[in-house]
Amino acid sequence: MTQDRYSRQILFAGIGAEGQQALLNSRAVIIGCGALGSAQAEALARAGVGNLRIVDRDFVEFSNLQRQTMFTEHDAVERLPKVIACANHIAEINSGIAVEPEIADVNYSNIERLVAGADVVIDGTDNFATRYLINDACVKHQKDWIYGAAVGSYGVTMTIRPRETPCLRCIFPEAPPAASAPTCDTAGVIMPIISVVAAVQVSEALKLLTGDVCSLHKSLMQFDVWRNEWRKISIGQPLNDCPTCALGRFETLNPEVREFAAVMCGRHAVQISPSESVHIDLGALREKLAPAGEVKANDYLLRFRTGEYELTVFQDARSIIRGTDDIATARSLYSKYIGN
Ligand SMILES: [Zn+2]
Repeated sequence: MTQDRYSRQILFAGIGAEGQQALLNSRAVIIGCGALGSAQAEALARAGVGNLRIVDRDFVEFSNLQRQTMFTEHDAVERLPKVIACANHIAEINSGIAVEPEIADVNYSNIERLVAGADVVIDGTDNFATRYLINDACVKHQKDWIYGAAVGSYGVTMTIRPRETPCLRCIFPEAPPAASAPTCDTAGVIMPIISVVAAVQVSEALKLLTGDVCSLHKSLMQFDVWRNEWRKISIGQPLNDCPTCALGRFETLNPEVREFAAVMCGRHAVQISPSESVHIDLGALREKLAPAGEVKANDYLLRFRTGEYELTVFQDARSIIRGTDDIATARSLYSKYIGN
């Protein structure tokens, strides 16, 4: 069955039977399971990468379905966490591989654990703060990782092999204005650019996992599928004075300010995370909140509506509060309804 399933990929000279076995023995870690992450997950699952750890903090919404091809209307109605919906679909696509879904906000406290054991780490996130975190953890632990981003009709990707190639910080000492200003929520995005960026990222992952590093594209690739522009920019060598890959300062892993609350750009929502990891009993919380408003829950999260606000609470006590961009308002709703 295995031979048949992967027969076309084994026929492909770049992979072959040995490469296929290497893929089956590999673990890929996908950080973020939105449009890029779910496209990467599907492709790697079909290719037979034996173990996929997929991490995401969010749940499926109808506004995702235009480009996040892994998800269905059923997932949005059920408000399934993206990684759970993704794991469910992968089980139907390829039951022969293992998926480790992680419902989590990626931050300084968990990123090193999340990339541990990875043969490759793939960027499916939508923000530079998380990418610097991935860069620090991957350089520190010498993990290859593949940066990728898409907004509007534009996309970019680069493969980082710590100390062999420039790292993200060598190329972007600070978050580029073009990447931090418009996000998918404010500027929109079309699905074809997702397909292009994910396709290049997945190709690079397959090369890395089969040991064919000579075939990597060794550049910063930029695409615009609306303006019909494709560019391959040479990236040269790692910088001698890069704080991350030359000097080994991993500032995002030891932050001075450990953010407890963050505005979710363009979502009209704020995320509140508890400062210590806790596990909350969603059933008990449901009973407590029932008299105060409309409550719905599934196995992974609870949704509570009160007035103009909607609180989504996860088992780790993290909450996404929709209906405000104001952290103080979100904090007071959190302490009123969920606790400190
Ligand atoms: Zn660097």
